[in-house]
Parts: sequence; C-alpha cells; structure tokens
Amino acid sequence: MADVNPFKVAQKQLDDCAEILKLDSSVHQLLRQPMRELHVTIPVRMDDGSVKVFQGFRVQYNNALGPTKGGIRFHPEETVDTVRALAAWMTWKCSLLGLPLGGGKGGVICNPKELSQGELERLSRGYVDAIWQFMGPEKDVPAPDVYTTPQIMAWMMDEFSKLTGSNSFGCITGKPLCVGGSCGRNDATARGGMFTLREAAKELGINLKNATVAIQGYGNAGCYAAFLARDLFGCKVVAISDSKGGIYNENGLDIEAACTIKTETSTVANVTGVKRISNPELLELPVDILIVAALENVITNENAARIKAKVILELANGPTTPEADEILFKNGVHLIPDFLCNAGGVTVSYFEMVQNITRYAWTTEEVYQKLDERMTSAYHSVLGASKQYNVNMRKAAYTVAVSRVVEAVKLRGWA
Ligand code: NAD
Repeated sequence: MADVNPFKVAQKQLDDCAEILKLDSSVHQLLRQPMRELHVTIPVRMDDGSVKVFQGFRVQYNNALGPTKGGIRFHPEETVDTVRALAAWMTWKCSLLGLPLGGGKGGVICNPKELSQGELERLSRGYVDAIWQFMGPEKDVPAPDVYTTPQIMAWMMDEFSKLTGSNSFGCITGKPLCVGGSCGRNDATARGGMFTLREAAKELGINLKNATVAIQGYGNAGCYAAFLARDLFGCKVVAISDSKGGIYNENGLDIEAACTIKTETSTVANVTGVKRISNPELLELPVDILIVAALENVITNENAARIKAKVILELANGPTTPEADEILFKNGVHLIPDFLCNAGGVTVSYFEMVQNITRYAWTTEEVYQKLDERMTSAYHSVLGASKQYNVNMRKAAYTVAVSRVVEAVKLRGWA
C-alpha cells in the first residue's frame, strides 16, 4: 500500500470536480471539510483485569441530503484522515444512488484479532457510549466495515437502545436478521458491484462467460464477489489474495476450497497445488476483470501502467490514486469507481432502515430487484456524464453526486 493520505486524495478528487462544475468557492470550501468530527477515548476492561485505552473517531462529513450514514472500521492502522476520506466518499455515494442520506464514517484503532469476544463486546459498547448522543436514525446511522461484523452491530444497537430507553433497531444497519437486519445485506456490496459489471460488459462488448477475474482481498466483499461472478455470469476466478498473500491458477481456482482454508488457517495463501503470488503481482495479472476489495492506495502511478485488466471493479474504498486514474483512463481501462461500484452495501443498509421504520420485512428477491434498479440507474448516469464531459468514470461520478449535494446545500441556505 502506497503512503498516500486518503483524505488528500478525496479532496483532490473534489477539487477536480469543482473545476468541471465551476462550483462557487464558498460551496467548494464547505464540501472540502467534514461538518463535524468526534475524537473519542474508550477505556476497556480486558479479560486479565487491566484497563486498555483505545482511540476512536466518528466523522459526519455532510448531512445536506439527510442523516449521515457510514460504516465503522476496527483496524490497527486506522487514522482520522482515512475516516475523513471514507466519510466524504459516503457523502458522494449516498447522493449518487439517490438515497436521502448524508455521509459519515467511524473507526477505532485496535486489532480485533487480538481481542477475546468479551473484550470485543466491551469495546463495541464503549464506542457507542462515547458517541451515542450524536447518533440515531435521524442523526447518524453506522454500519459494518473492515473487521466489524453483524454481531458487533447487534451489540452496538443494544447499547444504544439501553442508553435511549427504546428498541432502536434503526440506529445501525448490517444487523443480524432477527434483530432488524435485512435480507440480502450480506452480499449486497458485491452483488451491487456485479450489476455494474454486467452493465459495463454490455457497454464494452465483453462476454462475461469464462472471463478471467483476479480479486485482491478475500474478505466479506471480495469473497462474495468471487462466488457471484462465477454463479451469475460464469466468470473464471483465477487469482485471490488477503493480507498474507495470494494464489493464482490460470485454469481457475476452487473458490469453495479457498474459503475453507481461509476459515481454518486465516489465509488463502495456505491453499496447496496453486502458484503463490504477492498482492502487487495479483494486480498486474493478465486478466479481463480486476476486483480490488481490500484497502486504499493499491493502484498508484508506479503500477497503473502495468495493469492489464480491461475492467477494474473498486469494491474497496479509495484503492486508486488520482495519478493512477489518469494513466488507466489513457490506457482505455474501464474503471468502475468505488462510490458507484461498492454502493450496494449502503443501498441495502438504506433498505434496512426503511424496513426498520415501517416494521415490514421485504423478501430477498425484492431487495435484489430494488438494488439492481438503483445500481443500474446510477451506472448509466455516470456513464452518461463520462461521455458528456469526456472524463473518466470517477470524475463523472463526482459530477453527478456533487451536483445533487450542492443543490441541497443551496436550497437549505447553507451557501
Ligand atoms: P473484510 O475485513 O471482510 O475483508 C478485507 C480483506 O482484505 C481481508 O481478506 C484481508 O485479509 C484483506 N486485506 C487486508 N489488508 C490487506 C492488504 N494489505 N493487502 C491485501 N489484502 C488485504 O472487509 P470488507 O468488508 O470485505 O471490506 C473490504 C473493502 O471493501 C474496504 O475498503 C471496505 O471499505 C470496502 N467496502 C465494504 C463494504 C461491505 O459491505 N463489506 C461496503 C462498501 C465498501
């Protein structure tokens, strides 16, 4: 991962968009910074009786379109600038998908792999204790992200409900089904990405049957993407990786076996009978489709020119630097940018909120159909803007998303 500040990247992307849209300086300045951020200290009683102190953040970037919404990461290398960038991208993502929500994000600096279940529960509840006055269905609605799970969401919802004296299912999304979760949430991010891939393949004339796929990051988003690419379109998954390394077989991988090995040994790198590759090598493989589903800044000006894929799906947030974007665009690589490609997660999170508010549960088919409609429509708005302004898909997505936030900011009289 290159040492690039993700918030500087997010600001640069907005600056480029401001130039295309000829934004007023006051609106541009308003959109360049988070409107509110909380820095919290969370003391947690560990199993050995000692108290360990953790640092956390919650950034509410912009709520012109509605209550802020965005995941919480538990990661040892979490920084406030990463959280700021992710909160900005959530603002553009919700806007692009036409959701009545603003953008937020949270994070706690910790290594959940080193915590017991009890410690993880106390940390999760401690985070809510620190921010609860600033969250809730009408204010800010968190969700899972890197290394946070439906169980963690259930603990957080329970803590918020206890503090407010209500059964507040709508305060958080990504919950297990029986405590207000939505059907179709588990694979929503990957499935949404697949709907954009289907539309891109039609546009570019790519036959997805037997198209080769490499996936960096075999976690929640990446693992579902592997199964869906194979099961929906007949793609051939030839490479996958996680934080400990990757594996490659040009004839196709046994993705079920890779899941079992990952569950048993915590990494796909232990799969036998395949070629072992590094994460940087995976990005440069001769494949039709590259899916990046791990962390930020993995495609940079150093490796972008060597990328051979025809289509890149950014299931991860911020995997490509602005310089790399330009190189890929020049080389004719069709990149489906993060806040379009991975918007399926927040879209079904929004569906979860709607179901919580109305106390009516939709079927899995209803969720998939509504998700398909939103993702397909967003993809075509972006493609249209890309042709209209003759810019890459990320800049195009920015023009669509930022225009809507600007309209709301102006109508509300903020600038
Ligand atoms: P996850 O924790 O389930 O999986 C992350 C995967 O990335 C793991 O397999 C991990 O081993 C791997 N990884 C970590 N560091 C790595 C490195 N340096 N190189 C290669 N692989 C590495 O997380 P997730 O929920 O799948 O999220 C992945 C990305 O997708 C993140 O950028 C997240 O913000 C984004 N995203 C996820 C969702 C969602 O609903 N899960 C929604 C929108 C965006």
